[in-house]
Amino acid sequence: MIIVMAAHSTREQVADVEQRITDWGYGVHPIYGTERTVIGAVGVPDTDKQRYIEQLERLECVERVIAIVRPYKFVSRDWKPESTSITVGPATIGGPQICLMAGPCTVEDYPLTLATAQAIKASGATVLRGGAYKPCTSPYSFQGLGEEGLKILRAAADETGLAVITEIMDPRNVEMVCGYTDMLQIGTRNMQNYDLLREVGKASKPVMLKRGMWAKIEEWLQAAEYIYLEGNHDIMLCERGIRTFETHTRNTLDLSAVAAVKQLSHLPVVVDPSHGTGKSSLVAAMSRAAVACGADALMIEVHQHPDKAIKDAAQALSHEQFDALVRQCRPVAEAVGRTI
Ligand code: PEP
Ligand code: MN
Repeated sequence: MIIVMAAHSTREQVADVEQRITDWGYGVHPIYGTERTVIGAVGVPDTDKQRYIEQLERLECVERVIAIVRPYKFVSRDWKPESTSITVGPATIGGPQICLMAGPCTVEDYPLTLATAQAIKASGATVLRGGAYKPCTSPYSFQGLGEEGLKILRAAADETGLAVITEIMDPRNVEMVCGYTDMLQIGTRNMQNYDLLREVGKASKPVMLKRGMWAKIEEWLQAAEYIYLEGNHDIMLCERGIRTFETHTRNTLDLSAVAAVKQLSHLPVVVDPSHGTGKSSLVAAMSRAAVACGADALMIEVHQHPDKAIKDAAQALSHEQFDALVRQCRPVAEAVGRTI
């Protein structure tokens, strides 16, 4: 870190700051200017850095402290330059082929789930999505079928040879949910639920971490670091839109974040244009854009009868619309050196 001393700071104050840094066990590299002094501190361990920054900032003689290294380590590309790729059954996320995850917002019944599983498989998807535990803004809306929904998902996926991804909300359910699913999803509302992150970090199934609708990229990557630190290194990041002043769309799908996290992190990136836009008519266009900017996978809400979907009907695609979306994305993937 770099400590910028205040313009009025005295020799004694500079010496005091240098002594603190030395006492913490770090190297001190001062630059004494005519107007102010800047001190470089090297060798600060990650665990202590934030505390030392705050303690130094508390001093009147310190104008500012600048952290040089990022607040996350193991999920960064500095740590691991090669991209991570995750394979689960028929699906690989982070390889040359773009992975398609699709299915209903919420699992409703077996016939509907099976019909959608068969349709998305025929269009090229390898992962069946569906919520059994739904995080709902309103306590009055449908909360999901629970374990019954997990059984339906598993059965439909086994019947069609797809992998399953489903949301986990309660840290106490991790083991039970892992008994049915191939991948765990952390929803936007839980991105900073640290107990849940630590618990899925101990699980043996890959985790897709959705970006908090309020979260900065740095906060999102620090949340991923929580999972990584518990031993689970199979993490995918999912951009699903953030809250902005715009109300025409449900969220603002931040595709610049996709390109940015591909630079900052080695983890594969999934894009969810369904929640990102909230409008079925915008999903295909944003899917093409996501493929163009480097997404490793798409997560799309699909329903046999979108107008009858219990949840998120406005953004659900029909089986035919999903098939058209995949066909439209193929030439875009090819243009950026990928396949679907
Ligand atoms: C979902 O995938 O159905 C979902 C609830 O997503 P999000 O957490 O992004 O709102
Ligand atoms: Mn949904």
